[in-house]
This record gives sequence, structure tokens and C-alpha cells, in this order.
Amino acid sequence: MRCLLCDAILERSGLYGTLFSDDPLCENCRKEWQRQDIHMRFEGVPLYGTYVYNDAFSKCLIQYKECMDEALAPVFLYGIAGQLHHRYHGYTVLLMPSSAAKIKERGFHHLEKMLEPMGLPILDPFEKTDDRSQKEKHADERESIVLRLKEGIVLPKKILLADDTITSGSTLRAALSLLDQRRHTIRIYTVSVNRSQLARKLPFPWDIAIINKSASAGKKEAVHGKFSFQVTE
Ligand SMILES: [Zn+2]
Repeated sequence: MRCLLCDAILERSGLYGTLFSDDPLCENCRKEWQRQDIHMRFEGVPLYGTYVYNDAFSKCLIQYKECMDEALAPVFLYGIAGQLHHRYHGYTVLLMPSSAAKIKERGFHHLEKMLEPMGLPILDPFEKTDDRSQKEKHADERESIVLRLKEGIVLPKKILLADDTITSGSTLRAALSLLDQRRHTIRIYTVSVNRSQLARKLPFPWDIAIINKSASAGKKEAVHGKFSFQVTE
């Protein structure tokens, strides 16, 4: 077998690696992903993420989403799907919306495929009221994403809003605005978290190493900007 990203032959080091590892990525590619348990609050809602959104993660996500490389779907939750299943047992995953045109073009719903290994019920309840892609919009329009619930959707009591990454957070914010937090228990899971979002959360001492120069600019924004994030756990 070969690594899905770099095409290297998959060699497993050590007895455990040889017998048990079926990671579709080679050890070198996997090492470039920055695994971290990220706990923060987004608009007051507990958010958990499992990777720092770095170049390696971004490259893989682009190959999966834009180059329509469906085979990469299992690499994102590889080794963590079971833990996520237990963490969110009883919750229903609500996918952040993809445009209908994109799903048709790819031939698969990228987020649904990526999150399936969690083994939780999945709903795709949101649609964008403006279906133009982010790239087609002017910079000042990108922040204002307007969503609505699809007709006839019945929302479960326990909701897990899920996305591949959190960048500006505008889609998540739009989704939250449609949900009644008194009637639903809401949690957010994003596979990766962008560094500017990480900088907005108050750092634990052990997080400081990952907050780089570019992130420190974001931290100033957190103090003076309209967003507020707090550490939860
Ligand atoms: Zn590789």
C-alpha cells in the first residue's frame, strides 16, 4: 500500500505499527499534522477541535475538497473517531452547508464522508440563502453568510454542529442564530482550528508554544474586537 498523500510505500515501524496500524497516510505525512486537544468557546458554546489548521492539514483538505479526492475521507478522523463517538454519544451531527452545485461537482458530500467514522446520526439541515461560492463574493460580503433550515427538518434535542475547520466562524455563527439554545443542547466540533481562532482563546501555558507570530496579531483583535472566547476546560 502507498500513502494517499505522498505515494510513499507504507512501512510500519515497530511490531505494533506492523500489526495494527492501517493509517492511509505514511508516518512522515501524519507527523506534519499538528494534533492537539483544543477546547474553547465559540459564542458561548463549547467547541472542541483536534488539529491545528497548518499547511499540511490545509494541503490535504484542498486535495480532498477541491481535487475531489474521495479516498482521503478516512484520513481526517483516523485514530480519533472512536473517542469522538464516546464524547458525543447521544448527539446528532448537523453538517455545515455545502453548496448543492459543489456536492454535485464532487459527487459526494465531503463533510458527511469525513465525519461518518464517528458513527453518529448525521443531518444536513442547513442551506445557504445565497448559493454563490465564497470566492465569487466581495471581501465585505464573505462575513455575512445567511442560512436557513431546509423545509420539514425536525431538529433533535442534542445537536453537534460540525465542520472541517473554523476560520472566521461566520458559517457557525449563522447556524447558531437559527437554533434555540434553551430547547437544544448544543456543542461544536471542528476537525481543525485556524490559528487566528486559537489566538483568540486564552492560552493555557502548554498552548503558548503553538501560538506563533501571526497568531499574536489575532490576539490583539480578540481584546479589541467584537468576538470573545473563553477557555472551558
Ligand atoms: Zn506520505
